[in-house]
Amino acid sequence: MCIFCDIVTGAVPAHVVHSDDLTLAFLDVRPLFPGHTLLIPRAHVETLADLPEEMLASYFAAAQLLSRAMEEVMGAEGSFVAMNNKISQSVPHLHIHVVPRRRKDGLRGFFWPRSKYASDEAMVEVATRLREGIALLKAGS
Ligand code: AMP
Repeated sequence: MCIFCDIVTGAVPAHVVHSDDLTLAFLDVRPLFPGHTLLIPRAHVETLADLPEEMLASYFAAAQLLSRAMEEVMGAEGSFVAMNNKISQSVPHLHIHVVPRRRKDGLRGFFWPRSKYASDEAMVEVATRLREGIALLKAGS
């Protein structure tokens, strides 16, 4: 059990904004901006890699719904949709952050300073490695 499982059972209170058979979404207690929502699978799944295939469609459909709600309901100009997997993941229960965004809201570049590839060859090498690895993963699944 974890804190988000306790929210699913109702043992820990939360401001729930969306609920269906497989997912639950509630306000983050320490929001980047009001409306910042966390979307979780009801089942205790730790990372995206652990999410069973049959849950993918409903999980991401709920993320899309929340992303739309940030604009339609919260009056946001856009949204930021993100998840931490293992690194920087402070609660080991998969969660998508859906955050309302506005121009000049101060969040620009908030956690990912960009770098450059040393050369075009280095970029080709990384793309090739990923392509080949992904092909192996697909073959094994
Ligand atoms: P992360 O750091 O990406 O794992 O995000 C975890 C998020 O969970 C943080 O933004 C916390 O503010 C939020 N959080 C932790 N406990 C609760 C809780 N009981 N209710 C709502 N949000 C929570």
